[in-house]
Amino acid sequence: RMYLDRIEQARHLNAYLEVFSEDALAQARSLDEKIQRGERPGLLAGVVVGIKDVICYKGHKVSAASKILEGFTSLYNATAVEKLLAEGAIIIGRLNCDEFAMGSTNENSAYGKVLNALDVTRVPGGSSGGSAVAVQAGLCQVSLGSDTGGSVRQPADFCGIVGLKPTYGRISRHGLIAYASSFDQIGIFGSNIADTALVLQVISGPDAYDSTASQSEVPDYQADLRHNKSRKFAYLKDALHHEGLDTEMRGGFESFFEQLKAEGHTVEGVNFDYLDYVVAAYYVLTTAEASSNLSRFDGVKYGYRTPQKGLDLTDFYKKSRSEGFGKEVKRRILLGTFVLSAGYYDAYFTKAQQVRRLVVEKMQHILSEYDAILLPTVPSTAFKIGEKMDDPIAMYLADIYTVLANLTGVPAISVPLLRHSNGMPYGLQIITKEFDERNLLQIAHNML
Ligand code: GLN
Repeated sequence: RMYLDRIEQARHLNAYLEVFSEDALAQARSLDEKIQRGERPGLLAGVVVGIKDVICYKGHKVSAASKILEGFTSLYNATAVEKLLAEGAIIIGRLNCDEFAMGSTNENSAYGKVLNALDVTRVPGGSSGGSAVAVQAGLCQVSLGSDTGGSVRQPADFCGIVGLKPTYGRISRHGLIAYASSFDQIGIFGSNIADTALVLQVISGPDAYDSTASQSEVPDYQADLRHNKSRKFAYLKDALHHEGLDTEMRGGFESFFEQLKAEGHTVEGVNFDYLDYVVAAYYVLTTAEASSNLSRFDGVKYGYRTPQKGLDLTDFYKKSRSEGFGKEVKRRILLGTFVLSAGYYDAYFTKAQQVRRLVVEKMQHILSEYDAILLPTVPSTAFKIGEKMDDPIAMYLADIYTVLANLTGVPAISVPLLRHSNGMPYGLQIITKEFDERNLLQIAHNML
């Protein structure tokens, strides 16, 4: 009830697309009865969770913040949702986001923008803007988002909270509406590392419904979080000296690295070399995958269909898709079909795959010599509302530090580091080897 009241008071932030009030109260009551009967209430008993509106919750609406899914109700639970419920979590509502998780500001939602609770003239980041603000403003304890190119870490950075993108395959993608399947991963927002670790513990693991979900054992992520030993960190010189990085932030990172050295850690600069190619490779590959994934939204099977009568099938598809999808989604479908088209496939798609391979090898090489890579999460603090909307390229370029982890599959987390003189927070991004979330969380815990 406390969270329901707070959500009501914070309606102007537009973080929730729908609040499952009745349902959440019923879940709480049945949990209470369970405890009365002396049954095990679960690892997340009573923990109030919000979910990004790209994650299926049986019997509840799911829209991907798109008009094209208007009125659609999930027929099954995402595996992550199933696992949350099995451990007694209370799912309180679905959270606003960019349409089909495409964006960096939450301004691409068909249901309106989300405001950053620290400064309502600024965006919360995206695409999981609602999930970030829900935790930032205390409208749930933890929330789920999805991270294809930074959509959990970037809004966490803009909102001053913790955002984790686990290793590709750590959490099942079953029931997560696909954007770019070889990049997508469910991620977790929390206000601290212990909460984030606990949720990761619950929702990780193999899944018969997702062959890319790893069979590898789920370790105890909460154990030894406090354990602090001296570590060997690499920072990316070309990332820190990148022209797009805010100068005050650069200074903040440099003094933080000095502080780590003073605490007995090794911090060395290495060159990544391919930084200028990662955004291009990311947008070629993800739009290609998106154009294929989004072909299922044809006006027949789900949600919205054009009211216009008398069309033949092709025109019916065209009309329904033209009316149902927003501008950014259409832009990406067009880009994706272009890079996959016969004449351009090798020049764009194959090339981007080759770049991806090089980036993977480079990442593995650095991580074979260091415990973790440290870098900014985003080159600037939260944008002003509307600031980047007319310039999609500028918006895409701001993803430079986050897409690295999705191109390579490794886990990455953003933790709040400092406050800029403009009043906004900014975060530190930490990256470790794949399936090394234990170390990642331990390092992050000791940096907060
Ligand atoms: N900003 C990136 C994009 O628009 C990341 C989105 C995401 O991670 N879902 O593709």
